Amino acid sequence: MVTWDQELQHLKEKGLYRQLNSVEMMEDQGYAMVNGQKMLMFSSNNYLGLARDKRLIQASIEAVQRLGAGSTGSRLTTGNSLLHEELEKKLAKFKQTEAAVVFNTGYMANIAALTTLAGKDDVILSDEMNHASIIDGCRLSRAQTTIYRHADLRDLELKLQQTARYQKRLIVTDGVFSMDGDIAPLPGIVELAERYNAVVMVDDAHATGVLGKNGRGTVEHFGLKGRVEIQMGTLSKAVGAEGAYIAGSRSLIDYLVNQARPFIFSTSLPPGVMASALTAIEIIPAERERRFRLSGLSQRLYKELTSLGYTVWGGETPILAIICGEPKEALMLADALRENGIFAPAIRPPTVPDRTSRIRLTVMATHQDDQIHHVIDVFKKMAPALKRG
Ligand code: PMP
Repeated sequence: MVTWDQELQHLKEKGLYRQLNSVEMMEDQGYAMVNGQKMLMFSSNNYLGLARDKRLIQASIEAVQRLGAGSTGSRLTTGNSLLHEELEKKLAKFKQTEAAVVFNTGYMANIAALTTLAGKDDVILSDEMNHASIIDGCRLSRAQTTIYRHADLRDLELKLQQTARYQKRLIVTDGVFSMDGDIAPLPGIVELAERYNAVVMVDDAHATGVLGKNGRGTVEHFGLKGRVEIQMGTLSKAVGAEGAYIAGSRSLIDYLVNQARPFIFSTSLPPGVMASALTAIEIIPAERERRFRLSGLSQRLYKELTSLGYTVWGGETPILAIICGEPKEALMLADALRENGIFAPAIRPPTVPDRTSRIRLTVMATHQDDQIHHVIDVFKKMAPALKRG
């Protein structure tokens, strides 16, 4: 009989064993205490630096003092407060949709949308690089799932032609791909969906607050207002709080409230989280300079690392994937970064495909110029020692 220890040993031999790090964000957000050691943080999803913004913290403290620590019930029982409703109204306005509904996590929002909006008689067309929560949502929905090649519009069209017999077809894509940092070809996807009568769902977990002039996400970035039926996004990354939303028509949102099991059967988010998210949703469109700085720093890092000979994916977003190949090579690079005071862990299968183990570097608007220089210097120093790409 196989024991858990044997299973763990297999993971270790393949370089796939993972351990938890204790990470505490510091007031100077470029830094974190990692396992008790002060390090430069280059792998956080706190893209705009809002997670430690004083205004979010203050709003959260006041809400906790006024309303308590927990929400104590699910939304349809005792866990629905005015704060939840206010946040949803504000999110709908921010996303320029009729309505929005909040979920406890992005993972749950994707499971909720896919299991509620597609069933066994339907087909979901899903990009091969979509996030794990989309993959799990497809599985749980019991819909026929057809995977199309990453960001490949010709393959998507072929798959739409092959699935013409299905009445309901749902195309789902990450807006920004979380591990590669590229942006989905949403205009082409929308055009195909309109031509083949399919519904589009976009996961803007990494685009919310980051893409578009006002930070509204990929739909704003591409000027597709009103043409994407289901927009999901998280409140846990650039927004700096916790949770997620789905924005769309009033009837879509009412249907999710009535039918989505992760919404119905889980205690709602607590007041402190609602209040900080609400504050962030006001700050994001107002403080455009955060997005300018973020894209400037990301592009600079992309250019410098590419010119050093590294294979770097991304560049249009704050997510840069430095491709190493085998898990052990990515681990070696992560260790070298760590020895130089930079925290950016290795990302390995099954999170990413075989032979594409990588370092996922993420930039924050609050990074200082000298911190970016330090990262470039360390990569410069390590370049000769590494087999690249
Ligand atoms: N979608 C994407 C594209 C993600 O990257 C993530 C989280 N990394 C999620 C969904 C899940 O969001 P959450 O962490 O809020 O559960």
